[in-house]
Amino acid sequence: MSQNSSSASSKISTYLMMIVLIVLALSIVALLLSVSAFTEGNEMLAGFLLVIGFLAMGLSVYVMFQSRKRAANMKIESPKVMTTIECKKCGFKSVREFQRGDFVFKDLEPCQKCNDKMIITAIYKEVKDKEKTYGI
Ligand SMILES: [Zn+2]
Repeated sequence: MSQNSSSASSKISTYLMMIVLIVLALSIVALLLSVSAFTEGNEMLAGFLLVIGFLAMGLSVYVMFQSRKRAANMKIESPKVMTTIECKKCGFKSVREFQRGDFVFKDLEPCQKCNDKMIITAIYKEVKDKEKTYGI
């Protein structure tokens, strides 16, 4: 499920990037037109195109930076998958990050305390409290 949502968000950002690039290209065209309008002596039009060109350029750069920032935030906030390891004999418990090949009831290295075999008792996604609460 998380795979689907991440690919969907990357599709949206690609779409957004295309719009940003088009706006950026249009702003450059507007600036070029403003230069040619200025050389033709049409200062009103030149000023108008200059303002539009700079606004469009500023907007597209702003959107680009915002979406990049959001992508970076999403990467950090993606929940970690944790694995709980337990010793059935002495009850020693430890939690570490999920590793490839982990599954519940898998035998692992011997216990640090009693040298009995430890097993994986739970695999879960770590959900931060911040994501659960919604401020009003
Ligand atoms: Zn133990």
